[in-house]
Amino acid sequence: MSSRRPLLLAARILGVFLVLSVAPAATATAAGHPRPPAAPTVSEGEVMPHLRALQEIADRNGGNRAHGTQGYADSVAYVRHALDRAGFRTELRPFSYGGAAGYSLIADWPGGDPDHVLFTGAHLDSVKEGPGINDNGSGAAAVLTTALRVADAGLKPTRHLRFAWWGAEEEGLVGSADYVRSLSADDRKAIDVYLNLDQAGSKNTRQWLVVHDTEHGESEAQQAFEAWFAARGIATFDIGVGGSDHESFGNAGIPSSGFSTGISDCLHEACDNLANVDPQTETTSTNALLGVVWQLAATAPATARH
Ligand SMILES: [Zn+2]
Repeated sequence: MSSRRPLLLAARILGVFLVLSVAPAATATAAGHPRPPAAPTVSEGEVMPHLRALQEIADRNGGNRAHGTQGYADSVAYVRHALDRAGFRTELRPFSYGGAAGYSLIADWPGGDPDHVLFTGAHLDSVKEGPGINDNGSGAAAVLTTALRVADAGLKPTRHLRFAWWGAEEEGLVGSADYVRSLSADDRKAIDVYLNLDQAGSKNTRQWLVVHDTEHGESEAQQAFEAWFAARGIATFDIGVGGSDHESFGNAGIPSSGFSTGISDCLHEACDNLANVDPQTETTSTNALLGVVWQLAATAPATARH
């Protein structure tokens, strides 16, 4: 072995080291704008514990988490505790329905442009007949996981990020409709788009059903979801509007999107339990939401909506 070889090797290793250490820092595009940070992905071990917690809450409260029950109150407390610890500003929005007090949980991530709000939500209540783990613990857990990842990353979004867990959806979109009614015209205009997840972990899902806001056209959010799934070879189906809390936003002139993984055999029954959720589907749904939230958080439209 010649004496030059170790030196060459060292130079080569140093070269590789320099390339590796420079590459991650080179995040500027040709135009000189910083590139948004890549979205994180989660594994089922990060999402499923939230569903187990909601199942346990139902188990110790008569088998459900419905509007007006202790099971719902405990569900809100569970989600709120996690958000408060992570640094969100949380508040309860009370309403009254069917002779019972109800409330939705709203969480704001500090920072971002308050005139461009990216709003993501899911209903947290179940029907009285069952624990509501796919409908809609699955959506609630995906939204919670996404919010907690925003905090973990210390994300500094261009848009302001707001999250919601709605009460009394099963009674007719009551919590979300009440919230939207409480907004001023300026508040409504400040919401760029609302993203909804309802039933995100259905078993035997072959395609993801993407909400198409027919009144406001194909939103940037719908395009972003479709692109995310297409890039992974996952089939999607346009389900139009209707059926969940995004309707409350759409009715108030706020663009919306979101998705569902379809109706399960156990919908609104006692068997909508932890076994009624496919962990892989739930994880894919969560990663789709993470991808789209990360993408939309980093961009703001050139013109405001009027
Ligand atoms: Zn639902």
